[in-house]
Amino acid sequence: MCVHPLCLAPHPVLRMTARPVEAFTSELRRLAQDLTETMYAHEGIGLAAPQIGQDVQVFVANPSQQRGREVVVVNPVLDAAEGRISIVEGCLSLPDIWERVKRAARIRMRGQDVFGKPLLVESEGLLAIALQHEFDHLQGRLFIDRLSWIRRRRLAGAVRRRGCR
Ligand code: ZN
Repeated sequence: MCVHPLCLAPHPVLRMTARPVEAFTSELRRLAQDLTETMYAHEGIGLAAPQIGQDVQVFVANPSQQRGREVVVVNPVLDAAEGRISIVEGCLSLPDIWERVKRAARIRMRGQDVFGKPLLVESEGLLAIALQHEFDHLQGRLFIDRLSWIRRRRLAGAVRRRGCR
């Protein structure tokens, strides 16, 4: 297990559509553990594989920040989304940027666990928000993409050229 450097915007890996996982190997399970350790090391509530430079469809989320309550999803698909909620979000790949984002209040997400078993997560509140935020990462989307044009323009200067750290 190890803590990885984070890829920061505008690193190109953050804009790629991540590849689906086909082999549920020990490397995949190591990646999931590394994501979890890296998330805790940086005090995040979620982390997607592209944020540590791996363009594969895996993320971890844990709004409770209590160890053992992590939700790891491989090859996620958003099945259903309803209601509206908005909170101020941040992202480990966009340090120092905090903005209010509108998202679905309740979602149902399908996917697989690290052994390839089907997974169904029905969630609301902070977990639903974290799952949508991490799901976006696997599509090459960042939370700032969900802001109005004016707010994105205002932030453009804050997203300087940076790499992994
Ligand atoms: Zn993020």
